[in-house]
Amino acid sequence: MPASMHGELLPAVYRFKLGGFEVATIMDSHVIRPGLTPSFGGEAHAEEVKALAKANHIDADRYFHPFTPMLVNTGKELVLFDTGNGSLREEYEQMRGRLPAGQLVARMAQAGYQPEDVDVVVLTHGHPDHIGGLVKGGQPVFPNARYMFGAAEFDFWNRGENVREARKFNRELYVKIVVPLANRATMIKPGDEVVPGIRAVDAFGHSPGLLAFTIESEGKRMINWADTAGHYIVSLQRPDLHLDVDDDKERAVATRKRIFDMVTNENLLVAGFHMPFPGLGYVERAGSAYRWVAHGYQMNL
Ligand SMILES: [Zn+2]
Repeated sequence: MPASMHGELLPAVYRFKLGGFEVATIMDSHVIRPGLTPSFGGEAHAEEVKALAKANHIDADRYFHPFTPMLVNTGKELVLFDTGNGSLREEYEQMRGRLPAGQLVARMAQAGYQPEDVDVVVLTHGHPDHIGGLVKGGQPVFPNARYMFGAAEFDFWNRGENVREARKFNRELYVKIVVPLANRATMIKPGDEVVPGIRAVDAFGHSPGLLAFTIESEGKRMINWADTAGHYIVSLQRPDLHLDVDDDKERAVATRKRIFDMVTNENLLVAGFHMPFPGLGYVERAGSAYRWVAHGYQMNL
């Protein structure tokens, strides 16, 4: 008897040490999106984006888009960055066909963590794929956690002024999911400390108050840049191209360049929410742009 075909199997849980911390990246879910263009750069740059995809051995017409929250165990507290898609797809008609079902809790269990173990939930920003796993059926998914929300981000969605048409439903979601938790939240701004060793960095642009975070223990340092880059080829090699899901497009371009420069200057390990799993890598300069260098085993020595 020939062996059975079992279909695709993708790794979704990864853990390594950063000094005295343990860091786990967990792929909540993924979607295959229909085209890098016109999402990146609009119609005006369609041919360039297609050529870039070809030169980098990827398909311009179908791309893999993972959603990767991150856990940091400092030895004192367990900190979760972003919550994935959760049950948005089940609970909201508008999300069906757009977002996959979140698997964060089940996959955290594979890594040995229960939702009750999470002490702090940090939201990098308020987009659906980052807030979706906060509540299920109106109940907090991480019952013992306190929250850290970006102050500028919270203010933007809570006020609801100047929300562009494409984000109107996002605003509804934010008001329903995040705003009720504000009484258990600390509002943070760039430069603020989350817990000792973890600090917020201004990454405004992709969303009005997007925060990145540096994570440091025993002289080892990395950054979680969240959605600073939407794609590991296009955002790095053409950081100047506008991305349709960036809320403030020019600011997002400036932020990408500033953060990519910081990362290359300091040779930081990067965790990115939408980078290829395990979502970890380095950035190198390439002419006037950059390249993503996927993590190998640098953190496993
Ligand atoms: Zn995102």
